[in-house]
Amino acid sequence: MKVIEVLIEYSIQSLNRPFSYIYSGNKKIDEGFRVLINFHNKNIVGYVVKVRDTNKNKQEIEDELGFNIEEIIDVLDESPLLNKDLLELSEKVSNYYLAPKISVLQSMLPPSLSPRRGALKAPKIAYNQYVKVIDNNEEGLTAKQIELLRMLSREERVLKREIKSASVLDKLIEAKRVVIEKEEKRRLEIPNYSYQKPPRLTDEQQKVVEEFTNSNDLVYLLEGVTGSGKTEVYLYLSEQVLKQGKDVLMLVPEISLTPVMVEYFLRRFKDNVAILHSELTPAEKYDEYRKIANGDCHIVVGARSAIFAPLKNIGLIILDEEHVESYKQDVSPFYHAREVGIMRGKMHNAKVLLASATPSLESRARAQKGIYHFLNLPHRVNAQPLPKTTVINLSDYHNLDRESYMFSLRLREELHNVLKRKEQAILLINRRGFSSSVSCRKCGHVFKCPTCNIALTYHKSDLMLKCHHCDYVEKYPEVCPECGSPYLMKTGFGTERIEEEVNRLFPEARTLRLDSDSAKIRAKIPQIIEKFRNKEADILIGTQMIAKGHDFPDVTLVGIVLADIGLSMPSYRSNERAFQLITQAVGRSGRSDKKGQAIIQTYIPSHYAITLSARQDYELFYRKEMEMRKVQSYPPFTFLASVTLASKDEEDAIEGIYEVVDFLNENLDEDTVILGPTTPYIPYEGNKFVRTALIKYRDKAFVHAALEKLLTYFRNKTQYSITINIDPYNF
Ligand code: ADP
Ligand code: ZN
Ligand code: ZN
Repeated sequence: MKVIEVLIEYSIQSLNRPFSYIYSGNKKIDEGFRVLINFHNKNIVGYVVKVRDTNKNKQEIEDELGFNIEEIIDVLDESPLLNKDLLELSEKVSNYYLAPKISVLQSMLPPSLSPRRGALKAPKIAYNQYVKVIDNNEEGLTAKQIELLRMLSREERVLKREIKSASVLDKLIEAKRVVIEKEEKRRLEIPNYSYQKPPRLTDEQQKVVEEFTNSNDLVYLLEGVTGSGKTEVYLYLSEQVLKQGKDVLMLVPEISLTPVMVEYFLRRFKDNVAILHSELTPAEKYDEYRKIANGDCHIVVGARSAIFAPLKNIGLIILDEEHVESYKQDVSPFYHAREVGIMRGKMHNAKVLLASATPSLESRARAQKGIYHFLNLPHRVNAQPLPKTTVINLSDYHNLDRESYMFSLRLREELHNVLKRKEQAILLINRRGFSSSVSCRKCGHVFKCPTCNIALTYHKSDLMLKCHHCDYVEKYPEVCPECGSPYLMKTGFGTERIEEEVNRLFPEARTLRLDSDSAKIRAKIPQIIEKFRNKEADILIGTQMIAKGHDFPDVTLVGIVLADIGLSMPSYRSNERAFQLITQAVGRSGRSDKKGQAIIQTYIPSHYAITLSARQDYELFYRKEMEMRKVQSYPPFTFLASVTLASKDEEDAIEGIYEVVDFLNENLDEDTVILGPTTPYIPYEGNKFVRTALIKYRDKAFVHAALEKLLTYFRNKTQYSITINIDPYNF
């Protein structure tokens, strides 16, 4: 008999401890295996953390432990899910982020291997079956059988399912002339790109590569303007690392938005590349994951969770567009791929290269202090100047167009010119949908999300009202539910309305729209991007999605329809976000030999996030924003952690958060600032009421120890669920 300790699949703090079971079956069972167990009359999945042999029987074990113990229902794996390195990494991540251990494992593994019930139904290995001739002897065969045998002998490999006469084939198998060979199938279809010979590095690229190679530092920050050829540096360094027999982990924020990165790597390294990101089906993810684990691929190109890819001998980890916030997971465990990447880099003695045209303030500040090694690519490869940028003040009526309240005279005129020259334009509005809110003209009723209590956005293409925080949708009503009036008013505008306006003003222009509504359908985003690249449209309208890393050679105008949208958000990061978004968007213009320009429309033209992004002056923005952060003592001058308490009962949530704050006040010192308790912008999560407290601190070890104590203190208070977010972005 064995005593087995398992973590159960529920990822909440109060259940974040091992539970004991016994196993008397005869399957192999070990640490890192998944098991099926009964937990409170429900069959769920557990993850084995300890196995202990015992001579005692069930009764004796129960007497010893002081509680009833159940038998494991089934053992689900034949080998451990994670290798030693990844197991160690999972410990580090759950310690740093104070996250339930099981939640880290669930984030690390693809759906088919995840320690959760859903995995039982997830896809398993798929095989291709090939027919192979092992004996050419035709003696005793019928004419039909001989015909097939001869045909098969001429071919190198034939898929079994391609052979139409199945009964003849069966006879050949029976007669031991042919056998069926199984081979694991790769369900992800990889386009067959032709090899591309690398260009000669420019002097600047060469300098960066040499400095990187000759240094012994661990983490590097490469600041390179848009179009400075960062990708070529990644490819070059990857090739070097592969030559040393080591593996490369290449992270991009969202693959569907940057299919070119995958293309570059496939062209250069072919079958050596595995791809991992959220747009893959569970079956595809499973195949890619196994290919990496089996050592068939030595380069992984992927999004956030690819940081956990099971490469064994990592020599280089690259984060492209390191400033992008999607590198931080917004559910527990709230890990950031950059921090995890550095943890992994240290473990493997692998260099970590962070790169961006607009580095995050944290990274830039660390480079300033020498914690990261600073590298710079200050010029565009083709020596093309950065686009000429004009800021249009929307408060000045001289700039306004009487026929359109969304476009200024200038933006309209430049759009006209672009169409005339048969070039392309991008219009950015960082809000999807048609209008930002809908209300009743008669009684003033505002349509709101019943859970989040924020205004619903009208989506004209499917005549729906949608909540942009949760996934609530309802049909667009014909009348006001309060007073019955049919006169509803739509205020504000989003991507759909801009597209309609473009179609009204320029009926001859062909438009495409790209926002997260497009992401609802798999593979839709790359299709839209591809269409625009192929010049099947003149104007691309979209949210921040269109600002990311694309290379559209014929785009000579980028219009930012309303730059102010992000700036009014209540976050210490809002200036940084706005600066990055505008800079990235402007950088989409004039990337080939054609001259590009950008037009930024705003009501606050003197805001430094706008003036400096218009000039693409990252360094000055960095200095100004650092001053602001210092005054307000926000990161990178302090660290943040948020503690969230959720409860079905609002009173409980309030009481609980006060208990959190009291506890923290007792256990922290004067150097630490506790803000709150506060009611978050969206005070509900699922069907629970939520309250938060924010901690600003400098001493990481001290505060983490206190937070660990807090979790222990709350372990038995099961009326609450408590969550900690280390380095939160939104609170
Ligand atoms: P970034 O990622 O820094 O915005 P890219 O890597 O997309 O820039 O490079 C911009 C363009 O310059 C691309 O079209 C790329 O193919 C080209 N390029 C990069 N390096 C070289 C080089 N050494 N010689 C010629 N062309 C290059
Ligand atoms: Zn009304
Ligand atoms: Zn909602």
